[in-house]
Amino acid sequence: MSRATTDAVHVDDQLLAMYVAELGAIGDTPDGMYRFMYDDAWQRARDTLLGWIRDAGLEARVDAVGNVFGRLPGSGDGVVLTGSHVDTVPSGGKYDGALGVVGGLAALAALRQVGTPTTTLEVVSLCEEESSRFPANFFGTRAMLGLIAPDEPDRLRDRDGVTLAEAMRRAGLDPAAVATAERHDLRTFLELHIEQGRVLADEGVDIGLVEVIPGIAWETITVRGRQDHAGATPMDLRADALQAAAQMAREITVAVEGEGRPAVVTTGRWTVEPGQPSIVPGLARFSLDLRHPDLSVRDRLLDQVHRICADVAQRHGVEVDVVRDKDEEPATMDETLLDVLRGSAEACAASWRRMPSGAGHDSQLMASRVPTAMVFVPSVEGRSHTPAEYTSPEDCVRGASVLATALHRLAY
Ligand SMILES: [Zn+2]
Repeated sequence: MSRATTDAVHVDDQLLAMYVAELGAIGDTPDGMYRFMYDDAWQRARDTLLGWIRDAGLEARVDAVGNVFGRLPGSGDGVVLTGSHVDTVPSGGKYDGALGVVGGLAALAALRQVGTPTTTLEVVSLCEEESSRFPANFFGTRAMLGLIAPDEPDRLRDRDGVTLAEAMRRAGLDPAAVATAERHDLRTFLELHIEQGRVLADEGVDIGLVEVIPGIAWETITVRGRQDHAGATPMDLRADALQAAAQMAREITVAVEGEGRPAVVTTGRWTVEPGQPSIVPGLARFSLDLRHPDLSVRDRLLDQVHRICADVAQRHGVEVDVVRDKDEEPATMDETLLDVLRGSAEACAASWRRMPSGAGHDSQLMASRVPTAMVFVPSVEGRSHTPAEYTSPEDCVRGASVLATALHRLAY
């Protein structure tokens, strides 16, 4: 037998429950969580976290973009980093992102009791992941990796017209200092996160070890038919753009259903022009979001999508035009770290399985520069991005303890 159970590091369950409850109260409304980068709730969360970091005996720091760090200094070079994001989607839940922040903090608090690490440990509360306020996806991680364009703070605006730079100044940050947030000392990144799907909950498995985060493909599909009178144009003489587009969306969905899990496709945004009850639509435009962890499968499905569009367009006598808006590579997690996490799960007597992530995460970007892995814990009924999002206290503690045990194996 290996070191089973002997080196497990257990986090304080009462401390973690307090963190989850109190962070979950900041930005909470009757309609769910609203904690957007640099707003009042976000600033209260930052200040609360800084207090908890100091209470845990860790060194507290805020970088130029508002990422909050708790540091347990080691005797050697480099940093093993853990954490997740503190911002939420509109009407979001209390666990997405937040659990990885406070779980990481509880892990470092427990490790401080163990002693001084050889490699410095840090927990980070990343300022932004969700693009809820500014179109600034992964702003916190991008700042650490030096991937923020110099004009971004002045260029990006929220719905009220406030620039990102102005929002930073209101939160006590200097937009001219963004470049100083870049890090060159990171050796490892581990992110604890709720699954946001129902695989673990349905299978009764405690821990998900994420192998890959799928690359998202986004396309905009525009169908042009002929705008005509709704009363005077017989059905057999129409080139109805909406009917053709709807047929495309249906056939695309059936094709991806035929592929089976984990392939997913969504056609969530629609525009119909001129959009009048008495006019046969001349134009219909819809979005396509297609994901599969295997890039070759995803690209094969995209080819199929394009064949369906051409085929349906021909049958309906309309024109179709497809534009690729986003084309991400899948992010592969580090196998050595997955081994460490698997051993840590077993040391904590937790059942585990390897799995792809459904959602996107900071880890996908971090993995492009630093060996990275993710730990998932079950989401009840797979609900996320809703106030109904829930993970039991037992699952939160188990996930944070697996994380703490892995950090111990990596940094001591
Ligand atoms: Zn998240």
